[in-house]
Amino acid sequence: MSVLETKIEFLKGVGPKRAALLNTELSIFNFYDLLTFFPFRYIDRSKVYKISQIKNFDIDFQLIGTVERISVIGTGRKKRLVVEFTDETGKVEIIFFKGINWLLNSIKKNQKYLIFGRPNIYGGKISFAHPEMEPIKNSELLKLSPIHPVYHSTEKLKNVGLNSKGISILIKNLLSKVENFVNENLSSSIINKYSFISRQLSFKNMHFPSNNEILLKSINRFKYEELFFLQLTLFKNKIIRKKRNKSFKFNKVGKFFNDFYFNHLQFELTNAQKKVMKEIRNDLGSGFQMNRLLQGDVGSGKTVVAVMSMLISKDNGFQSCVMAPTEILANQHFESIKEFSDKLNINVELLTGKLSTRKKTSIVTSLKNNQIDIVVGTHALIQDNVKFFNLGLVIIDEQHKFGVSQRAKLWSNNMIFPHVLVMTATPIPRTLAMTAYGDLDFSVIDQLPPNRKPVNTKHFYFKDLKKIYSFIFDELNQNRQVYVVYPLIEESKTLDYKNLMDGYENMKTIFGKKGFQVSMLHGKMNNDDKLSEMSNFLLNKTQILVSTTVVEVGVNVPNASVMVIQNAEKFGLSQLHQLRGRVGRGVNKSHCILLTSNKLTNDSKTRLKAMVDTNDGFKISEIDLKLRGPGDVLGTRQSGLLNLKLSSLIKDNGILKNARLDAQKIIKEDFELAHSHNRNINQFFYKKYSKMLKWSSVS
Ligand code: ADP
Ligand code: MG
Repeated sequence: MSVLETKIEFLKGVGPKRAALLNTELSIFNFYDLLTFFPFRYIDRSKVYKISQIKNFDIDFQLIGTVERISVIGTGRKKRLVVEFTDETGKVEIIFFKGINWLLNSIKKNQKYLIFGRPNIYGGKISFAHPEMEPIKNSELLKLSPIHPVYHSTEKLKNVGLNSKGISILIKNLLSKVENFVNENLSSSIINKYSFISRQLSFKNMHFPSNNEILLKSINRFKYEELFFLQLTLFKNKIIRKKRNKSFKFNKVGKFFNDFYFNHLQFELTNAQKKVMKEIRNDLGSGFQMNRLLQGDVGSGKTVVAVMSMLISKDNGFQSCVMAPTEILANQHFESIKEFSDKLNINVELLTGKLSTRKKTSIVTSLKNNQIDIVVGTHALIQDNVKFFNLGLVIIDEQHKFGVSQRAKLWSNNMIFPHVLVMTATPIPRTLAMTAYGDLDFSVIDQLPPNRKPVNTKHFYFKDLKKIYSFIFDELNQNRQVYVVYPLIEESKTLDYKNLMDGYENMKTIFGKKGFQVSMLHGKMNNDDKLSEMSNFLLNKTQILVSTTVVEVGVNVPNASVMVIQNAEKFGLSQLHQLRGRVGRGVNKSHCILLTSNKLTNDSKTRLKAMVDTNDGFKISEIDLKLRGPGDVLGTRQSGLLNLKLSSLIKDNGILKNARLDAQKIIKEDFELAHSHNRNINQFFYKKYSKMLKWSSVS
C-alpha cells in the first residue's frame, strides 16, 4: 500500500474526531484525498497594483495610496463612510457600511495605507467595499506576504478548528510527509509537449504557490490530467462497448426502404441528412450495437432520418420502437409515421399510459406475436409486461428526458441488444458533446432544408401590446395561426396559472369578437383534454393556442406563423430557441415576438439579444453554455463523469481538445496501455479510473 492511501486519521493533527468530520463533510478519507483537496481560490498579496491598472472586477487587488478625504454620507440604512484614496495614477472610493464611528476615528487623513479587496465599478467610478486596510509607515519596508490558499470548509469543520487556515496547516504537514511518494502519471512525451512541471512540484504549488506563474502552470497541469484521464476512460469505454455488444446485422436495404425513398419521399434529402444516413447504415450493418446520438437543430429534419432507419429495420425483418417524452409528442410521431406507413403496408401502433387496459393488452400481445412493425410510445413502452418479438431498433426522441437506466430496461431481457438512435435538438459544440455523451457515437445534421426562411425575431415591451395585437390580426386574417406561450415557474405556480388564464380570457375577448377561436394547453389538464385542444389547433379549428411550455418540444403545426412569448425574460435560452422552432415550419414567413417587462437583468438582456441576432442553434447553445454552464444545459446526464474538480468543459475547451486528441492517439496505438512509455499513465489509470470502466454494464 502506498503512503498516500494512509487513513486521514493518522495524519499529525487530525485524530479520530476530526477524521470523522473530514470523511462526512468533505469526503476526505485518506492522504491522497487531502492532497488533491485543492484551494478554491487564492489571495494574491504578492503584488501591489496601481489604481490605473484596475481593469478587472473579478479579482482582488492590493493597492498602496493615501487617504485624501473622509466623510460620512446618507442616513439610516444608507449611512456610510466614504474614504477618498489616491495614488499617483488615480483615485478610488473606499466605502464602509459598518463600524463607521470607530473607523472615523482610526483612519487618518494624509496617511499612507495598504488596502486589499475586490473593486466594483459604478458609473465609471471605482470603489472598494470593506477592504482590508492597514497603515504603512513611510520608511517601512513592505514585507509582502505571498499567495495564500483559501479552502472550502463547513460550519462543523470550523467548530473543530478546521477553517481554511486549519486545513492549510494540515496540508503543510501532509506535504512534508508524502512529497517524495508522489508518482508521475503522464508520459514524458506529454510532459515535454506541454512543458508541464513535475507532478510533485505541482502539488506543492497548488497549495503553497511561490508565485503566480508557477501556480498557473500547476493548475493547468492538473486540469489537463483531469481531462486527459476522463477522455481516456471515455475512449476505452466506447471500444469495450463496441467489442462486447454484438447486435443484429442489418445487411440489406430492401423493398420498404426503397418504396419510401423512391415513391413517397416528397423532397430531396439535404447533404447533411444523406451523410447521417450513411453513418447509420454503416452501424446497422456492422454486427455490433449502434449507439448513436443524432444532433440537429429544430427543423433540421431528424424525423425522416429516424423513419428511414426503421424501414431498414423492417427490411431486415425486425421491429422498431420510438420513445417520446410526452403523450403529445408520441401522438405526433404516431400521426406522421402513419401517414406513409399505410401506403407502405406497415403496422404501426401507439402505446401510451392512457389507453384502456383492453387496448393495451391487445397491443402487448400483437407486439409479442410480431404483428406490429413499429410501436410509438411514452414510458408505457418500458413497462415489464411489454415484450417484443424481435426488437431491432430503438429511436429515442429528446433523450435528456430518459435516463440511461430506462434505456437499458428496453433491452435488458434480450440476449442481443437492439440498435439505438438517440435524437436531440440541443446542439452543443463537438468536443463538449463527445465528452458529455461519451458513450455514444455522434452524428450531426448541420444544415437546414433549403428555402427555410429564418424566423424574424423581435423584442418588445408590454407597453407595445396594442401594436402586437394588430399584427396578430393581420396574420390571422391571412389564415395563419398563432401561439402565445406563458412561463410556468415552480415557486409562483398559482400566480403563473392566473397569468395564463387571464391571457386566455383576454385573447378570447379580443379575437373572439372577430370570429377567431382560442385553444388552451397546460400541464394540469388531463390527457384527453390536452390531445383534443392540440388536435383542434392542428386542424385549424382554433387559430390561437395559449399555452405553457408543453408545446416546447417537437410540436409541428406548419400553418402557425407567429410565436408570442410572454415574459420571455423568464425563459432559458435553449427553451426560447425551442419555442421559436414551433414556427417557420411551413411556407409562410414566420415571426417570434419576445415580450418582456422593462426590468431586465444583464443575463436576460444577453439571452434576448442572442435570440434577436441569430437563428443558429449552435450559436445559441454556445451562449447558453457560457451563461449557465454545462451541468445545467446538459442536465444531470453523466454527472459522475462530468463531476470535474478543477476544469470547466467550457472555459478550458482548449485543454479539453488537446487532452482528447492525446488520449485518442494513445488508445489507438496502445489500447491496453502496455507499452513501457505509457507506464505512468497505466499505473494511475488502473488505480484511479478502472472503476469507471464499463466491464459489464449496458450502455
Ligand atoms: P426536427 O429535426 O426538428 O425533428 P423535422 O424532422 O420535424 O425536424 O422536420 C421539419 C420539417 O422539415 C418537416 O415538415 C419535414 O417534413 C421537413 N423536411 C425534412 N427534411 C427535409 C428536406 N430535406 N427538404 C425539405 N423539407 C424537409
Ligand atoms: Mg422533431
